[in-house]
Amino acid sequence: MRLFDTHCHLNDEAYQADLAAVLQRARAAGVVRMLVVGYDLPSSQRALALAAAEAGVYAAVGIHPHEAAAATAGDLERLEEMLAHPKAVALGEIGLDYHYENSPRRVQQEVFRAQLALARKAGKPVVIHGREAHADLVAALQAEGGHYQGVMHCYSGSKEAVREYLAMNLHISVAGPVTFKNARKLPEVVPALPPDRLLIETDAPYLTPHPWRGRRNEPAYLVAVAERVAELLGMTTEAVAELTWKNGAACFGLPAETPFDCTGHTG
Ligand SMILES: [Zn+2]
Ligand SMILES: [Zn+2]
Repeated sequence: MRLFDTHCHLNDEAYQADLAAVLQRARAAGVVRMLVVGYDLPSSQRALALAAAEAGVYAAVGIHPHEAAAATAGDLERLEEMLAHPKAVALGEIGLDYHYENSPRRVQQEVFRAQLALARKAGKPVVIHGREAHADLVAALQAEGGHYQGVMHCYSGSKEAVREYLAMNLHISVAGPVTFKNARKLPEVVPALPPDRLLIETDAPYLTPHPWRGRRNEPAYLVAVAERVAELLGMTTEAVAELTWKNGAACFGLPAETPFDCTGHTG
């Protein structure tokens, strides 16, 4: 079984002490491809350095809505330079977060739209973060062209709202909350998705799936997300792993075959 964790933050300081062991456990669990996602310039640079060093690891570079207030025009130029690297396969994570509202809404919208435009210019997919901002997200996405290669990551909305993202060609990624006992919307959303738009992720170190909830999350735990999705779809875990592997490869323009050397020695 091969699994693609389409969204994790191995660039987070949570892994500073034991990153090699985390990667080893991921690969031992079959998670042989990982997209490491940046949230500001330094974390994007760390994601890219990790991707350059490790087989099967790719980077997304971008400015998270939480960090939007600190973003400058120079930051966008740096992102554009980073996107020229062959293992920088996406621009993200970008979006709107009105739950914490760490940056003013208007600034979040400006930085989000500037990055959508940059992704189009660079010809790269987008990784979108949305929380309690559905109407404004859809409005911004429509205003910047309304058709995207990319993903709504850690989807938590309704099965009605998901149609608007699907109509804009986006993939939908499901994370650890699908395994929670109190999950209400996700068990309805997952079976309603077109099979070729479904991705899975850990969003590690956050949102640890059951039965490891409460601990630090890591890519090896993606298996629990695949198992729960398999249950919801009436498929085997192996079939979900393969389906989401192929969908992830298509979404991010990656080869469909497994990396030749998953131990990281060949880059
Ligand atoms: Zn996010
Ligand atoms: Zn994230």
